[in-house]
Amino acid sequence: MAAQIRKRALRYAFVNDTLYRRTFDQMWLRCLGTKEADKVVAEVHEGLCGAHQSGPKMAAKIKRMGYYWPTMVANCINHAKRCHECQIHGDVIHQPPNPLHPTIASWPFECWGTDIIGPIDPPSSAGHRFILAATDYFSKWAEAAPFKEVTSEHVINFFTHNIVYRFGVPRRVISDNGTAFKITKIYKFVERHKIDWRYSSIYNPRANGLAEAFNKTLVKLLKKILTKNKREWHAKMVEALWAYRTTYKTPTKATPYSLVFGVEAVLPLEIELPSLRVAIQYDLTQEQNARLRTEELDALDEVRLRAQQNLEIYRARMAKSFDRMVRHRAFQEGELVLVLRRPIIPHRKIGGKFVSNWEGPFVIEKVYLGGAYQLIDLEGQRPMPPINGRYLKKYHA
Ligand SMILES: [Zn+2]
Repeated sequence: MAAQIRKRALRYAFVNDTLYRRTFDQMWLRCLGTKEADKVVAEVHEGLCGAHQSGPKMAAKIKRMGYYWPTMVANCINHAKRCHECQIHGDVIHQPPNPLHPTIASWPFECWGTDIIGPIDPPSSAGHRFILAATDYFSKWAEAAPFKEVTSEHVINFFTHNIVYRFGVPRRVISDNGTAFKITKIYKFVERHKIDWRYSSIYNPRANGLAEAFNKTLVKLLKKILTKNKREWHAKMVEALWAYRTTYKTPTKATPYSLVFGVEAVLPLEIELPSLRVAIQYDLTQEQNARLRTEELDALDEVRLRAQQNLEIYRARMAKSFDRMVRHRAFQEGELVLVLRRPIIPHRKIGGKFVSNWEGPFVIEKVYLGGAYQLIDLEGQRPMPPINGRYLKKYHA
C-alpha cells in the first residue's frame, strides 16, 4: 500500500509552484486548471495553429505540447463535436476515403506529389484563383502558394524556390496531366535536375491520391479558418500550412514537422503558458542545449523508421476498409440534422468553391416509411420536400 502511494506520488512533481504529471513514456506534463484547459482546447481546435482536428487527435496534440488535465480527452471530443464549422464543412459520409498512392518514399523530400487546386470561386481579394501545392510523400510536409493563374513558369518557379532551394532536388515528382505540368519548359527543368517526373493518367486517377488528399485537407482547413472572411484565403494560407505541418497525421502517427526536424515545433501557446520543455530550455546553458539537441537528432532515424512502418500498416488498412459499405442511419422526430448540399456531383474537382458541404441545422418534423424525412427550419418553415436519410447527418448543438 505504502509502495503504491509512493509510486503515485512519483507521477507528480512541483517545479516553481507548478504541478507536473509524468506520463508513461516519461514526459512531464504541466497540469492545467479548468480555465486554462478551456483556453488550450479552443486554441488547439480553432486558434492560431488550430487545424479543426477531431477530439482524440486534439488530446494527443495537447499532450505532445506538454499539458495535462484529467478530462482532456472527453473535453476535446465534446469541443470538436460541437464546432459549427466542423459540422457544416464535414466530409460527405458516403464517400470512401482516397487510398494513398502505392509508392511509399522512405526518406523526406525524395518524392513529391503536386497538384493545382482551383479555380476557386470567389477569388481572393488579391485576385488569386488557384493554389499550387506539393506534398512530400514520406513526411507529409506540404508547400503551397496562391496564384492568379498557373502556367508552367509558375510551376518551375514554385519548384525552384519552395522545393529545390529549401529541401533539395527531388528524385521523383508525381502530377496529373494538367497542361501546366506537360510542356517543353517543364521537360527542360526536369532534364536539368534529373527528376523522374511521372504523370498519373485519367485512367488511374488515384495515382496522385496523396496530393489530392492533402489538397482536400488544406481546402477544408482554409474553409474552416475563413468562415468569416472568405476573400482573405491567400493571406491565411501560411497559417493553414503551419497548422497542417504541426498536426499529427494518422498514416505516419507523427507530425510532418517532427519527421523533418526531429522535435516538435514550439507553438505560440507554449510560450504563453510555458510547458516544461520551454521552462527548462530557459535555464539551459548553450552546451547543455546543444547536447540535448544532438541526442534528439540521433534519435531521428529511429523516429523515421517507425513512421515508415506506420505508413505501411496504414496503407494495408486503408485498402481493406475501402470497400466497406455505407452505414445505415436513422433519425427521430425532433432531432437536429444537417442536409448535404446538392446536386451531388461525385467526382467534382476539390476546392471549387468555399461553400460548406452541409446546410442547416434543420429539425426532423416527420419520419416516413422507407427512410424519408420531412424537415423544418428553425423558423418552422419547410425548406424542401421529404428527403432521404442518406443526405442527412446528426447536428450537435
Ligand atoms: Zn472545428
